[in-house]
Amino acid sequence: RAKERGRDGIVLYEEADHRRALSRVDIEQSLHGAHERGEIVLHYQPVIRLADRRQVGVEALVRWERPGLGLVHPADFIAVAEESGLIIPLGAWILEEAFRSAAAWPLPLRGGRIQVAINLSARQLSAPGLLDRVHGLLERTGVPPDAICFEVTESALVGNEELAVETLERLKALGAHIAIDDFGTGHATLDYLRRFSMADTLKIDRSFVQGLDSPSGQERAIVGASVALAHSLGIGVVAEGIETEAQLRAVVELGCDHAQGYLLGPPERFVQAASSSTER
Ligand code: C2E
Ligand code: MG
Ligand code: MG
Ligand code: MG
Repeated sequence: RAKERGRDGIVLYEEADHRRALSRVDIEQSLHGAHERGEIVLHYQPVIRLADRRQVGVEALVRWERPGLGLVHPADFIAVAEESGLIIPLGAWILEEAFRSAAAWPLPLRGGRIQVAINLSARQLSAPGLLDRVHGLLERTGVPPDAICFEVTESALVGNEELAVETLERLKALGAHIAIDDFGTGHATLDYLRRFSMADTLKIDRSFVQGLDSPSGQERAIVGASVALAHSLGIGVVAEGIETEAQLRAVVELGCDHAQGYLLGPPERFVQAASSSTER
């Protein structure tokens, strides 16, 4: 459908396809070595404990300061990095940087130090060397392992499920925490929970949280049931993407343990030591 004969008999693709193809190649080429050129940065979003509204952690979220194009968000390059394999060197840099930050923030929180959550993609999880790298970083930085949480989505299990589960179990054995990201958006969710039995935390996808603004609604039932399920398995719950006071009230009522979202704090370049409390 997308093809058309041009004047000179050259096959022209529909412009959108063409642009997409161009930009993929373009992204891949410019992303190559971007971390070495200082173009990659991590932003950190606060994770709030709902019981006392204190900040207990941050999630590291990657951004690309692409010369001439400004800040590029992961939606626009992580998939390309994944498919091209660039996620491996990029992910290694992200790990280093996140550990550096974790080492620099022994924030004196009541009941522990701030936990840094790091997203891992499918390819990172199944690539050799991840465990050695994490082990090395723990030794080198002196960051206690439970100050690190690795976030993975269901898609991280696709491909080589056994290896992915084994890697997660080993990360867990090193003392790190494991979180199931974007919970509820994948398939075969119950089976997935069983395979992810090493998880400490389940993060409820913001698509469910968005629906919590209305007092009745399926989302309440879904979030409530997810919390009950997680808690019965000994897993904590983070509600993602809190944007309104109504959503915040709802996730408190529904028993979520932690929350993240623009209302509580957007991802930011720097975390100030003073921001360890967000009492309101
Ligand atoms: P995620 O891990 O589920 O991260 C949460 C996303 O929701 C982030 O988008 C965050 O900025 C956004 N968010 C937080 N609060 C709100 C809110 O209140 N409203 C709305 N609308 N959005 C909110 P971001 O930073 O664009 O990242 C998107 C995804 O890219 C992440 O989803 C994660 O899957 C992936 N990603 C981000 N950083 C990394 C990384 O360092 N490595 C890998 N492999 N993937 C990453
Ligand atoms: Mg995440
Ligand atoms: Mg998520
Ligand atoms: Mg997501």
